[in-house]
Amino acid sequence: MSRDPVPPVAEILTARAGEEMALNDRYLNPQVGRIVRTLGFDRRWVGGEGAHLIDSEGARYLDLFGGYGVFAVGRGHPEVAAAVQAVMDARTGNMPQLGVTLLSGVLAEQLIARAPDSVAAMVPANTGTEAVEAAMKVARAATGRPRIIYAEHAFHGLTLGSLSLNGNEEFREGFGPLVPGCAAVPFGDEQALARELEAGDVAAVVLEPIQGKGVNLPPDGYLQAVQRLCRDAGALFVCDEVQTGVGRTGRFLALERWDLAPDMICLSKALSGGLVPIGAVLVSRAAFDRVFDGMERAVRHGSTFGGNDLAAAAALATLRVLDQEGLVARAQRMGDLLMELTAPLVDRYEVVRDVRGAGLMWAIELGPPDGRARRSVWQAAERAQPGLFSQLVTVPLFHEHRIFCQVAGHRMNVIKALPALVIEESEIRRFAAALEEVIARAERVPSALARLGLQTGRRMLAGR
Ligand code: PLP
Repeated sequence: MSRDPVPPVAEILTARAGEEMALNDRYLNPQVGRIVRTLGFDRRWVGGEGAHLIDSEGARYLDLFGGYGVFAVGRGHPEVAAAVQAVMDARTGNMPQLGVTLLSGVLAEQLIARAPDSVAAMVPANTGTEAVEAAMKVARAATGRPRIIYAEHAFHGLTLGSLSLNGNEEFREGFGPLVPGCAAVPFGDEQALARELEAGDVAAVVLEPIQGKGVNLPPDGYLQAVQRLCRDAGALFVCDEVQTGVGRTGRFLALERWDLAPDMICLSKALSGGLVPIGAVLVSRAAFDRVFDGMERAVRHGSTFGGNDLAAAAALATLRVLDQEGLVARAQRMGDLLMELTAPLVDRYEVVRDVRGAGLMWAIELGPPDGRARRSVWQAAERAQPGLFSQLVTVPLFHEHRIFCQVAGHRMNVIKALPALVIEESEIRRFAAALEEVIARAERVPSALARLGLQTGRRMLAGR
């Protein structure tokens, strides 16, 4: 192993530029490297601005991944960067640990002011999964009950606790035994939930108001019914707004759409402008006080970096930018436009099964076409690699239109977009037009795309 002294970071960024893939393959995750190369997404990303990623040739790509939804205020927002810089310049007394700090307190004050009255305290964290872990622990300790209910197809993170609430087998497989007492119910099925709550041993029901994997919206009245059922059963209702929160769906919190007042709200992702890791759980006063109920129990949950000044400053700046630039309302407007432009694709193309979303959390679901010939193309693609057909759309979007978007889950033909809320109207129109062009081509000349797809599939399968 090289023991050369570490050069200054600015020097590393120039002197070692171009070594990213080799370093990844040697030390990080070579399988991710293979996927990226197979799809031809192996650009050298040298910058980001607003809703765009910029490659080493200076080409700008419309970034609909949004870093898995962290860049709500756009990449590299100067105000967020300035807030982080201000903390560093001030050399604050960060993380005294047995002590308290200002910025974390102001952040809690600001978040609670934007949340329903049902929550009154904040437990800081560093990531989404950590926020979910905290909610699970608070729920058990506050109720003295063991069980936690989650929804099929849910995604709450990948550490062992949140993985125990993961509704997709491909993530869980191989990591068991997971946390005992966790059980899934179908998302949208009130009766199934009511049955789970009957025994009175459920600490919490943890749900994403809109599921991130697949962008599944709840049926009318479902979330209100869940809240009612939880209250009646003495279980806590936890809304995981890690993805849906901070303006993404056209509300500061998605739960505002249904007037919910949960016992806990998990936040992360966009909260700190994509600059610094952050997580937080907003907790009801009653639940909080039952967990932290004496000096000897003051630190029974927490983490070293939780509530640090850099994250709090970035989050405060993010909230300021959201307000100043009217980004929550903008998410609704731009989301409405995207829906207006893309919803008609369901009627125009056989392969388009559904277009759904809220604000700038958007997805299109593809399914097998009706005609026999076309269906066989679909089936061939799916045999090569389940979910492959979607890549026949995302790959040309990337290569021909410089639009970077994701397939929303393993073995699913759902394409998803989580653009920066600052996205321009012209970019929404450009995306909608490019998407239609690519889908139309997939239907008209499936064989050309199938060739691409099958090659991709075989390469993905090789050496598995
Ligand atoms: N909860 C939800 C709803 C998420 O979408 C995610 C991540 O995508 C998480 C939790 C986990 O967050 P993290 O990746 O920061 O651990």
